[in-house]
Amino acid sequence: MRIGIPGALFYFVYYPMWKVFFEELETEVITSGKTTREMVDNGVREALADACVPVKLFFGHAMALKDKVDQLFIPRIVCMNSKTVYCPKFLGLPDMIRHGLPDMPPVIDVRIDTRDKRFAALRAFMATGHMLKKSTPAVLGAYAKSRVTQMKFYRLLRSGFQPAEAIDMVFNRIKAKPVITTGQMTFAVVGYPYIINDQYISVDVVNKLRRMGINVLTPDNISPLSVAMQHYDSGKRMFWTFSDKVLRATRYFADRKNIDGIIHLSAFGCGPDSIVDRFIHMDNSRRSVPFMSLTIDEHSGEAGIGTRLEAFVDMVKRKKRGE
Ligand code: SF4
Repeated sequence: MRIGIPGALFYFVYYPMWKVFFEELETEVITSGKTTREMVDNGVREALADACVPVKLFFGHAMALKDKVDQLFIPRIVCMNSKTVYCPKFLGLPDMIRHGLPDMPPVIDVRIDTRDKRFAALRAFMATGHMLKKSTPAVLGAYAKSRVTQMKFYRLLRSGFQPAEAIDMVFNRIKAKPVITTGQMTFAVVGYPYIINDQYISVDVVNKLRRMGINVLTPDNISPLSVAMQHYDSGKRMFWTFSDKVLRATRYFADRKNIDGIIHLSAFGCGPDSIVDRFIHMDNSRRSVPFMSLTIDEHSGEAGIGTRLEAFVDMVKRKKRGE
């Protein structure tokens, strides 16, 4: 049995846990790997025209797995914190892939909504294991091990690594190197993890900044408790999980003395981002941290993004020198 996990969207949040869970149940896990031009083109061609860029990419990744796996794992994750819900596009993912693409493998689409029942995630994984005809003790054992791996992944994020790097470290046993160099400027890059960490679509903004000698922090590097306790006064409750986290994380970074600049990376075609970006603009206009908003789409080019980053870094340096 080969289970396919598309390398987009929730991949950057839950892949370590999912991979260990399925492997402990003696199934092979295959991912679509990094985004390629072909995946982007396929996604743009097959997804709904008004879908956001990350969803188009997800289509491309799912298509790349089509003939390589027996089933695709695309859970319908609604709510994980009993408060906020994921954007409606996430909720429709299993249906979009099942009905929007021809001849796809069957989709495992267990629903997880922690507002419905206690232990919703555990129940969903139990259901998944039973679908694979595994015994209850085997599924419980696999779930426990997958949680341990996920905790290790979270610890690496808290140490300053980005999700793609932490995934490499967890599974390829790459030795951790310090990612924050003292004495250098530090920027916060805020946005959704599946945009910031997709090197192709984000035009590798994080590493571009690092090559310019800038330390980079993202919302994933903040502990969940700090994010949850961070207050922001947009005047409206943000009920989408990732958007809520971006707003809180941006305020968290804006209040830190060691943050020299903030860059919001948003996706073209994202409904929630049209609100989030505006809120960040309004909030930051009352603060003195330099801020830039970058919208990426399937046509984002190296040169355009690189020039804007260089100009921003230059502006922040001049501001620090008091020019
Ligand atoms: S939050 Fe925005 S970018 Fe993310 S899936 Fe929803 S519409 Fe797309």
